Amino acid sequence: MSFAPAIDRHVHLEGGLDPVWVRAQADSAGLSVPDSLEGLWRGEAQAFEGFIEAFLFSSGFLKDREAVRSALAAIVGRLPSESEGPRGVDLWVSPHFLVRFQQLLSLEDLWRGLEDGIAEARQQGISVAVVLDAVNNLGPNHGHEVLDLVQDQLPGFVVGFSTGGLERVPFREWAPVFDRARSLGLRIAAHAGENGPGENVREAILEGGVARIVHGVRAAGDPGILDLLAERQIPVDVCPSSNATLVTDLGAHPLPTMLRAGVRCALGTDDPGLIPCDLAGEWRKARAMGLTEPEMRSLQRFAEEDAWCLAKPRQK
Ligand SMILES: [Zn+2]
Repeated sequence: MSFAPAIDRHVHLEGGLDPVWVRAQADSAGLSVPDSLEGLWRGEAQAFEGFIEAFLFSSGFLKDREAVRSALAAIVGRLPSESEGPRGVDLWVSPHFLVRFQQLLSLEDLWRGLEDGIAEARQQGISVAVVLDAVNNLGPNHGHEVLDLVQDQLPGFVVGFSTGGLERVPFREWAPVFDRARSLGLRIAAHAGENGPGENVREAILEGGVARIVHGVRAAGDPGILDLLAERQIPVDVCPSSNATLVTDLGAHPLPTMLRAGVRCALGTDDPGLIPCDLAGEWRKARAMGLTEPEMRSLQRFAEEDAWCLAKPRQK
């Protein structure tokens, strides 16, 4: 495989800003870039708290429609230039964080900026679907607030609802929020088995009804959970660069183990503006893990078949 497939299966709008752009924004606002972010840009591992500080700082510049458009343009611009097959991005976005918590811009401007960026991407033959991201550790009330915010103004490009942040609140408590999101026609994903135990992956599926797992890497040592993922054909988005930086005690990346157990894994960049990486580099890392040619082809096939940006539009 001499080219890298061009479907980024997991990337955050807020974590995808171009570092040059962020530094320019900081300079013009008279702010100094925090050490945590400088460290991430240099490729140094950070504790999750340092990562959150860096995330908060850089996403603080998403203040208008144009900033949102340019953030999406930076993400789309990181797709491999030479590729075959479909091109697309499954984009996680945190409307409540930007509009309510940070109060950076209106929901309408957020949607318009995304609409602009999605239209630009479409001109380049790239499909983009948006997944709403809520913060697990803020609990189900926060999840309901996310849905309250968006439900009367939900653009067609929004296709999913997910939790992220710290995996602290059990997924069974999130189940009613997930049910409500499903009733709006959204598909359900969750960051699980990243900063929490692998067992969270099982709980997300069995008690939360989650249809797609982000990361899941800490479940790779449990054959029972891998069997569950394989049997139910649950897609799992893994992000080697992000995982190496943020998942403690990961050791060798478990992608080969997961694929060999029949799990439908695909690659994403997660936060390429904070943890510098691009999709072509993630593919090189996957190959360097010792995947065989048929395994590389499976990885590509899953990336395409399970991508929400290539699926039919939302039904409601
Ligand atoms: Zn993520």
